[in-house]
Amino acid sequence: MDKLAVRSVLEHIAAFLELKGESAARVRVYQDAARRELEVTGRSSTLDELREQIPPGLAEMLRISGLGVAKVRQIHERLNIDSLTELEDAAADGRLAALPRFGRKTAENVRKGIAALRQASAFRLLHHALDEAQGIAQALAALEGVRRVEIAGSVRRRLELIRDLDLVVVHAGDGMRESLIERLDDAPGVIELAGKDGSVTLRFVSGAVAQIFLSTEADAGLSLVRATGSAEHIAQLQARLSGGGPWPDEESVYRAAGLPWIPPELREGMGEIEAAAAGRLPRLLEQRDLRGLLHCHTNYSDGTTTVAEWADACRADGYEWLGITDHSETSAYSGGLRAADVTRQHAEIDAANRRRSDFRVLKGVEADILADGSLDYGSAVLDQFDFVIASIHTRFGMTETAMTERVLRALDDPHTTILGHPTGRLLLAREPFAIGRSR
Ligand SMILES: [Zn+2]
Repeated sequence: MDKLAVRSVLEHIAAFLELKGESAARVRVYQDAARRELEVTGRSSTLDELREQIPPGLAEMLRISGLGVAKVRQIHERLNIDSLTELEDAAADGRLAALPRFGRKTAENVRKGIAALRQASAFRLLHHALDEAQGIAQALAALEGVRRVEIAGSVRRRLELIRDLDLVVVHAGDGMRESLIERLDDAPGVIELAGKDGSVTLRFVSGAVAQIFLSTEADAGLSLVRATGSAEHIAQLQARLSGGGPWPDEESVYRAAGLPWIPPELREGMGEIEAAAAGRLPRLLEQRDLRGLLHCHTNYSDGTTTVAEWADACRADGYEWLGITDHSETSAYSGGLRAADVTRQHAEIDAANRRRSDFRVLKGVEADILADGSLDYGSAVLDQFDFVIASIHTRFGMTETAMTERVLRALDDPHTTILGHPTGRLLLAREPFAIGRSR
């Protein structure tokens, strides 16, 4: 069990005990015992028992930012509420605001917190989901009777945001199926197992939920195709499929549909079946197609790596060049480069280039687009760079007209080579700013 999962279990135990009114000393005793049990068995009987005693809605309420144990207890005891939906109603109709130490502002924050929680618990970023899926695959692969585990679903399609984890578990044969389902329940970190027919849903202590497709070797290809594609892709493929298998690999499935193998990243039901049938599938970009990196921060601003370390690491990974782009002076929040630092950094880059004849470091900068659309530093300093990324880091709330004007003005500056993060969006954290229609 990884450190993150252990911490999550211990935090849940503490919160549940506090909800029951246990003292801090008692909480520590329970946590110590739970830590030992987790190390040995990968589960916690304390948490299992607490989950039976505490309404699941109260546990969810604890995850709303700004609602600690004391407030959740108060809500439960005074308003007799134990679900997010009831809490949402109470926040809307004034009951929550009327509680001592709450008020209108807190009620409004709770309402927003519930919305954010629903959004965040439904989706996570690809790299987080990939870590989770790999952890689960490893745990399942260790079970007796399992030959191999393949990560499928939207993680394999590499969507930016992931809601569901899907895995195909290939086992030794039909006789194995029932006993394997029993064993899934014992996999490390599993707290709940549901649906025992076509697929099995596993819920983990970490909060992850995974759909598991059980398959024999003879059908592994078909299972993987079904567990990977979007519903549209599967439906379109199914309509072309003829023959009754066996389908040991994905190629055999696509061949039976009269198609070449389609890369998972394209299996969205957005024209890829027609393209494959017509022999017009695009060649996808691969890691090895990338020749260099152009947006890299060093220890001169908010990065932790030196110019030389960047160069060595990039060269070791097979890249041919690297563009250093620290934040500009106005970005005080990230320790932006002062004009004097620019000279110092450029000397460092020149030295790095002299040491390596097979690798080139370019002098770049991420210059702030100021509120009026002009670039930080001004011409004299900007002229010293090989290239300039122009980015917005402040005043996200401008009107659409003003924001569009601001960005267009920055693009008109002859120093601008690249527009950085063009909408300011941070997936799951910040909405894009308004930009686009007209000047
Ligand atoms: Zn930036």
